[in-house]
Amino acid sequence: MSIETVALSAYLIAALLFIRALAGLSKHETAVAGNYFGIAGMSVALAATVLLAAHVGISALGVVLLIAAVLAGATLGLWRARVVEMTQMPELIALFHSFVGLAAVLVGWDGYLSVERHPFGPAANVLRVQGTYGIHHAEVFIGVFIGAVTFTGSVIAFLKLSAKIKSAPLMLPARNQMNIGALVVFVGLTVWFIVHPALLPLVIVTLIALVLGLHLVASIGGGDMPVVISMLNSYSGWAAAASGFLLNNDLLIVTGALVGSSGAYLSYIMCVGMNRSFISVIAGGFGIEAPSSAAQDLGEHREITVAETAELLANARSVIITPGYGMAVAQAQHGVAELTRKLRERGVNVRFGIHPVAGRLPGHMNVLLAEAKVPYDIVLEMDEINDDFADTDVVLVIGANDTVNPAAMDDPTSPIAGMPVLRVWEAKQVIIFKRSMASGYAGVPNPLFYRENAAMLFGDAKARVEDLLRAI
Ligand code: NDP
Repeated sequence: MSIETVALSAYLIAALLFIRALAGLSKHETAVAGNYFGIAGMSVALAATVLLAAHVGISALGVVLLIAAVLAGATLGLWRARVVEMTQMPELIALFHSFVGLAAVLVGWDGYLSVERHPFGPAANVLRVQGTYGIHHAEVFIGVFIGAVTFTGSVIAFLKLSAKIKSAPLMLPARNQMNIGALVVFVGLTVWFIVHPALLPLVIVTLIALVLGLHLVASIGGGDMPVVISMLNSYSGWAAAASGFLLNNDLLIVTGALVGSSGAYLSYIMCVGMNRSFISVIAGGFGIEAPSSAAQDLGEHREITVAETAELLANARSVIITPGYGMAVAQAQHGVAELTRKLRERGVNVRFGIHPVAGRLPGHMNVLLAEAKVPYDIVLEMDEINDDFADTDVVLVIGANDTVNPAAMDDPTSPIAGMPVLRVWEAKQVIIFKRSMASGYAGVPNPLFYRENAAMLFGDAKARVEDLLRAI
């Protein structure tokens, strides 16, 4: 059997393993197995690629450099993955997407420099004989465009998610026209490049795509960032697929298409879940108006002590806990699980209400609660629990803010207007665990804190939950 056949068979096996990985990751119970399938697929893919590269005649130095690059990348990746906090996961993912985008730009430029730059060189002649010379121009151009948009878009997402720049949307006056204009220019330049593959259109498209990626993500507000992350995930998949066409690598095409389409579908599901327009989000906040900057007088808030909270809980029959990003930062999930156990022993009906974008990555709260051994059957999705708040004695909001903000329903001018939220305020009493009156990720004030049936329990969520455990 030739090396090519071995490598192609390995690619097929790797593609099947990636599909098994995606299937596994779609369910809680099979997620760990899904990860193992992914790791196995990637190992097979890398081994086959190095084998194939060595076989097609890259020099010994080339193979050494390739292996050195794989080792350096793997060491860096392992180190980052081991030290990253769960709350920093989205920014790490955004950074990874930026690498995929940058790689696609470099692969595209390399394709141009080795083929179009030497139209009568050996590489171009091979493509001419195959009848794919013109297609190569399109592959270079589209690959560079998608890669550059993904690169700068992901860098901005990284900066926003790590709070290095503000998460508020950039509202340039003619931003929609600019985005559409960039797309029209891209189509025109593509035609130019296919007809006449010169350096100038490639330079222009690279610059336009870099600015477009930057602008698209800068225009999206904090509340829509979860969708932007999965959208960039999708873009990075298409960028990889474009590189696969250029490098004539079937596995890269299959893998890129898997990531591209699953990311696009996830973005769509998230948009439906958050009542956001899919088109608006992928078009950089198309149609979203600048929020009114008029300061609102929300009234006075009330504070509550640990002892008073313990007494309320002692007299409650039903309690719902709605965790958010603050519970993750404080690592309060173990205390919360212990509190749940104690209350349930006393016959209190305790359940959890999980908002689809609570925390900083989809499923964030479910993972933390599972880690703290909270039984699955009392952890309910927003839609399953939202109608039950009205019959609930006490709601404990632990480090959540945007996901319990009534302004999303009551204030059409709010940047999060229309986003479904947990209707915690319908309960008899709401207690909010946080450190201050500061707003959440979307940067929007929360009128919940000023409602008559709401009280603030200030301090670090972990410390306050532990105080509460002692008091109970
Ligand atoms: P928010 O980000 O709205 O609010 C979290 C709150 O936790 C803050 O107001 C903060 O208040 C409090 N907090 C922080 N640290 C602590 C601590 N140590 N102890 C107690 N409280 C603390 O969280 P939500 O989960 O309600 O909403 C998630 C937000 O993140 C949404 O806007 C969502 O769109 C966005 N997002 C979600 C992603 C996802 O995929 N899930 C990805 C990217 C963004 P204070 O400082 O006063 O303590």
